[in-house]
Amino acid sequence: MSIAENLKAIKKEIPENITLVAVSKTKPVSDIMEAYNIGQRVFGENKVQEMTEKWEEMPKDIQWHMIGHLQRNKVKYMAAFVALIHGVDSLKLLKEIDKQGKKNNRAIPCLLQVHIAEEDTKFGFDAHELKELIDNPEFKKLDNVSIEGLMGMATFTDNQDQIRREFKNLNGLFQDLKNSLPHLSVLSMGMSGDYTIAIEEGSTMVRIGSSIFGKRNYN
Ligand SMILES: *Cc1c(COP(=O)(O)O)cnc(C)c1O
Repeated sequence: MSIAENLKAIKKEIPENITLVAVSKTKPVSDIMEAYNIGQRVFGENKVQEMTEKWEEMPKDIQWHMIGHLQRNKVKYMAAFVALIHGVDSLKLLKEIDKQGKKNNRAIPCLLQVHIAEEDTKFGFDAHELKELIDNPEFKKLDNVSIEGLMGMATFTDNQDQIRREFKNLNGLFQDLKNSLPHLSVLSMGMSGDYTIAIEEGSTMVRIGSSIFGKRNYN
């Protein structure tokens, strides 16, 4: 199937109020344009340089989401245009985003990444660290970041019960956090292999790559 056909099929399965981030990392501009031409406007990348190059080349009504692990020294290259940063996992990084937001006269939208996977290779805050962060006076001073919600990745496994448990956990944290930060509205969870479960468990934003663009070639 073509990219356009894949995208149409997935859109049919996703309720309209859920945001679809088309994950275009490693894929050429021509592939992204195929999705753009049938109306897709939100794309996700995991490398700042690649995202910046694509932003320069492509139509300016695209919303670029940074979904990868982010180094502090890279924030400045995308601060002017990034629509949402999904993988924020430290106060240090938040402070840098705040600084770059100030320089660009904007509040940069961010999601706090939460570690939900039972495997211990993924980045992110745990429940305790999340609470410490939002109670930290330094966190409250960040005027040029706008915290929109949480992001998480389930364990890479065939065990559907485990995936569901991890997403349930994340939604539980999200609902708790809303008691302190009632404006939160984004729960980014679900990828090609698990987005159906993620939606059942309360996701508001799914990040789908290979099911739209096909397998990635990292060579
Ligand atoms: C690559 C990536 C995705 C998309 O993965 P697929 O399995 O290709 O859908 C989603 N989220 C993050 C954080 C990623 O790095």
